[in-house]
Amino acid sequence: MTHDDSDADSDRDASPANERFETRAIHAGQDPDPETGALMTPIHANSTYAQDRPGEDRGYEYSRTGNPTRSDLEANLADLENGSHARAFSSGMASINTVLNTLEAGDDVVAGSDIYGGTHRLFTQVYEQFDLSFSFVDTTDLSAVEEAIQDDTELLWVETPTNPLLQINDIAALAEIAHENDALCAVDNTFATPYLQRPLDLGADIVSHSLTKYLGGHSDVIGGALVTDDPELDEQFGFYQNSVGATPGPFECFLVLRGTKTLPVRMDRHCENARQLAVWLEDHPDVSEVYYPGLESHPGHDIAVRQMDDFGGMVSFELDATLEETSDICAETEVFTLAESLGGVESLIEQPAAMTHAAIPQEEREASGLSDGLIRASVGIEHYEDLRADLQSAIDAVLH
Ligand code: PLP
Repeated sequence: MTHDDSDADSDRDASPANERFETRAIHAGQDPDPETGALMTPIHANSTYAQDRPGEDRGYEYSRTGNPTRSDLEANLADLENGSHARAFSSGMASINTVLNTLEAGDDVVAGSDIYGGTHRLFTQVYEQFDLSFSFVDTTDLSAVEEAIQDDTELLWVETPTNPLLQINDIAALAEIAHENDALCAVDNTFATPYLQRPLDLGADIVSHSLTKYLGGHSDVIGGALVTDDPELDEQFGFYQNSVGATPGPFECFLVLRGTKTLPVRMDRHCENARQLAVWLEDHPDVSEVYYPGLESHPGHDIAVRQMDDFGGMVSFELDATLEETSDICAETEVFTLAESLGGVESLIEQPAAMTHAAIPQEEREASGLSDGLIRASVGIEHYEDLRADLQSAIDAVLH
């Protein structure tokens, strides 16, 4: 395992104080309240702020523009991603939308063909009508990416691991291709989290997050974030954050700050459970395919070893079963809840073609290898044996 839990300096260390990730997850951006000593960032439930004289505020004027709870969250996220700036949004989609806000009519975007269905919908069903063009390519194939990039390509959009096929994209190589073509490289780091992968260190320009997932961690909040090292880009993100107004409330920011404190311990268990489950599924007589980057048989395993500190908590697989039997198995599980989303402490199971990725046309899904029978599991932090037994009894109930 590449995971570094020793006293030795970890790759994640980059803060001026050189504190390790686990320490920064708890403390970065969160000093005790100077007036009261309150340890936890207060939920600043304010729309507006008193000014000393017209135009002279004390750092905050209106909560769409800026809010102290949000500022602490943004400082925490920037630190964890080894970036200099972060902006929080009301959802992961709002953060992706903000990246697109910075483009102009006539610009082109190259994106991975295996991406979250909602991202694909935003690109094709919202922005194509504003004269942005999008091409979807297999981003594991670097020459296909080079071929897809045109003179007017301004953005390369990358997920890794991808949703739902858990493909691994080489961030450093893709960022280099984008830069050679005067385009920006944005990485959706939702599946890996900064605990496992820091795209800015690998050359990416923008990191996008759905905070709804592992960073929140408890399936009780919707949020998004953008992190960058480029002050000009951050200024643009801030302009659209304020102008569009898709900002998170202070309670949402508080919940995510609460989540990031335990991110390392949760992720360790997510990874361990997912790894054990993937190994078990790989040898299972009723399973035809397992997608997990921690398996040596996974085509992106070597890149994952290089660019990630562990392989994450998501496992996708296909059964030797009909479509209906597959749906029945998803409905039959009891510890795994049949639900969209991922990254919470509890295990979830779903069928992407009918649920999270239904917005992608069937031909496109099939072309990218997303079969109707694919099952995606967000492996939680329950006891591994209970998770394995639950899947086995659901398989037995339907197939045997
Ligand atoms: N990016 C990825 C990889 C996702 O899986 C999701 C949601 O599932 C999103 C972005 C969108 O995030 P949100 O649901 O917070 O808007």
